[in-house]
Amino acid sequence: MKASMPQVVSNDALRSRLCTDILKGKLSHAYIIEGAAGTGKHLIAKNIAAAISCIEKDSDGIPLPCLHCINCRKIMSGISPDVIYIKREDGKAQIGVESVRMIKTDVAIMPNDLDYKVYIVEEADKMTVQAQNALLLTLEEPPEYVVFLLLCDSAGLLLETIRSRAPILRTEPVKPCSMSEFLCSYEPAAARLKASSEKDFQELITASGGSVGKALGYLDPEKRAELNLYRESVRGFVNTMLGDRTGEAVTELMESMPQKREELQALLDGAGLALRDLLLLKKCESAPLCFYSDREEALGVSDLRPAGYILKIYENCLSAGDALLHNSNVRLTVTRLVCPGE
Ligand SMILES: [Zn+2]
Repeated sequence: MKASMPQVVSNDALRSRLCTDILKGKLSHAYIIEGAAGTGKHLIAKNIAAAISCIEKDSDGIPLPCLHCINCRKIMSGISPDVIYIKREDGKAQIGVESVRMIKTDVAIMPNDLDYKVYIVEEADKMTVQAQNALLLTLEEPPEYVVFLLLCDSAGLLLETIRSRAPILRTEPVKPCSMSEFLCSYEPAAARLKASSEKDFQELITASGGSVGKALGYLDPEKRAELNLYRESVRGFVNTMLGDRTGEAVTELMESMPQKREELQALLDGAGLALRDLLLLKKCESAPLCFYSDREEALGVSDLRPAGYILKIYENCLSAGDALLHNSNVRLTVTRLVCPGE
């Protein structure tokens, strides 16, 4: 059995299914690749394009795609004229019908140098209904050499008529151990960070939430500094809310709370994840954690208060987040959350 898409992290079932389809010549004319941002949809799409065009496709013992032949290299570096990207235009919220009409004319032209022409529609769930209907006409009877890959966060936003013509492949968040292994083997900056600060490296892995895209972004020192600052503010908030709540501690927290709506929302989102971790630890000490990268630290914080108390704070954070969404006054929301008696 050939190694399938060695560059793609996790998503084992999806990779093996795709490679089997390709090797048996059972590839569908269209696939919907659905998953949260950063779960590797683009990389998978490029790998599909490379796998069907790879010169070494039928060679034993060579991974699919090989990533070294001329076709693989052109596709992976984004310069193959036969792999066409359809994107939302800058400043536009949706992909309009004009972008899709272009495809209709273009599919009639044979590939330049590959056996296939691959159309990768990014953010396919942002196509207008008109655009989706226009695409449908091509999806119904595409030329033999055409493959469509529709990338989206949620296939539910695509028309049923499109979903019924394209199998849905769901990408999954990458597990922390696979993420760590992947980053260290492909990104020298990640290996250097791990060697210099295991703590910072683990914080990055946890904060990525299984998104390779986010993890790669956090390797940038400036972004990582911002991330660390943000995570410290979430810790400070949670520790004070669950601590002794002396007048001094509360005043200090009030003064450090964000004044801007989006920043407060982000703090509450982080606090929500942290408090959820603490509640889970009350039930099971080995529960998977979303915010804390250090289990001992999380267990220590979880021991500060009984589950009922933590749950109350968690619910107050959810209510504050909801109030912010409904345009509540930021200062008032902070006061109600931090000193509810006033
Ligand atoms: Zn190849």
